[in-house]
Amino acid sequence: MTTPEGRALDIEKALREVQDRLRAACSDSGRGESEVMLLPVTKFFPASDVEILYRLGCREFGESREQEASAKTEELDVVFADAPAKWHMIGHLQRNKAKSVATWAHSIHSVDSDRLVGALQKAVRRALDDGDRVTPLRVLIQVSLDGDVHRGGVERDDLARLADRVSSCPDLEFSGLMAVPPIEADPDAAFADLADLHRRVLVDHPGALELSAGMTSDLEAAVRHGSTCVRVGTAILGSRPIASPIESADHISHN
Ligand SMILES: *Cc1c(COP(=O)(O)O)cnc(C)c1O
Repeated sequence: MTTPEGRALDIEKALREVQDRLRAACSDSGRGESEVMLLPVTKFFPASDVEILYRLGCREFGESREQEASAKTEELDVVFADAPAKWHMIGHLQRNKAKSVATWAHSIHSVDSDRLVGALQKAVRRALDDGDRVTPLRVLIQVSLDGDVHRGGVERDDLARLADRVSSCPDLEFSGLMAVPPIEADPDAAFADLADLHRRVLVDHPGALELSAGMTSDLEAAVRHGSTCVRVGTAILGSRPIASPIESADHISHN
C-alpha cells in the first residue's frame, strides 16, 4: 500500500519526467515550450490524484468516461473553487450524455458525427441559459486516420463537411482536430497525415488552431508534427486497469 504522501511523491516525479520529455521534444523540433500543452489524463484514477496534480500546478485535465468524469468534476469543482480547473472530454461520447458534458466540459476532443454536434449545440445552449456554464464549448473534431470508425473519429472525406457544421453552431467554438494513430501504425506517418488534414481545414477555418495529438507512447512524434496538446495518462499516473469489453465497444480499450 502506498501512503498518500508516497503517492504524491510518485506523481510529482512522474509529472516532472513527462514535463522534461515534452520540453526535450519541443526543443528537438525547434518549437517553443509554450506551444504544446501537457494535458494530464486522469480517467480511472481517483479525485485525490487529480488534487495532487492540481497542487503541482496542473489546471486542465482530460477525462474519457462521462459518468466517471461528471462525478469527479462535481466533487472537485468545489475544492478548486478559487482557481477552477478546465476539464476536457477526450473519449467517445454518446448523444444522450451531451447534456451532462455540457455542464462540466471546457472542451471536447472527440466529436465525430453530425448527430453529436446537434446534441451538443442544444445541450450547451441550455446549460448557458440555466447558468450551468458561461462560455461556448470548444470542439475538436476527432479524425479517423484509417477509416476504421469503430475506434471513433470521422472519416477524412466527411471532415470538411463536419467542420462547417460545427462552425455553424452558435454555442460551439470549432477549435481544431484530434486523432489517435491506428493500432500498429507508424506514429510519425500517422501524425504527418493528421497535420496535412489540419492544414487543409485551416484554409476555411483559420481559428481551428488546436491539434490534439500524442499520448504516453508517441508524444515526441506528435510534437514533431505540430501537436498543440499531448494527452498523457500512463506516464504520469501509472497503468490503468484493463478495460472491460463494454469499454472496447466504446472505442477506448486500445488506450
Ligand atoms: C486514455 C487516453 C489517453 C492517455 O493515454 P496514455 O497512453 O495513457 O497516455 C489519451 N487520449 C485518449 C483519447 C485516451 O482515451
